Amino acid sequence: MMPCREFVETITTEPVGALSWSRRLALGSHRLICHRCRAFEANNRALDNLLQVHRQRLEEPAPPADEPLKTRVNRP
Ligand SMILES: [Zn+2]
Repeated sequence: MMPCREFVETITTEPVGALSWSRRLALGSHRLICHRCRAFEANNRALDNLLQVHRQRLEEPAPPADEPLKTRVNRP
């Protein structure tokens, strides 16, 4: 079985689409057996989604400086 360290390193550094079928099979087998890595992957995915939302917010143009501070801070 693939070691946990290799599983974590692979899912955090390599896009799934770039992996060979044998590598994806090894990941899937490990995921099936190891509850810790399943939990890590779920947390990692949630963190990625959270960062994606904030990244989009940071890329939006800054509000005009003359807009009241309360309005700027409470933007959705
Ligand atoms: Zn594991």
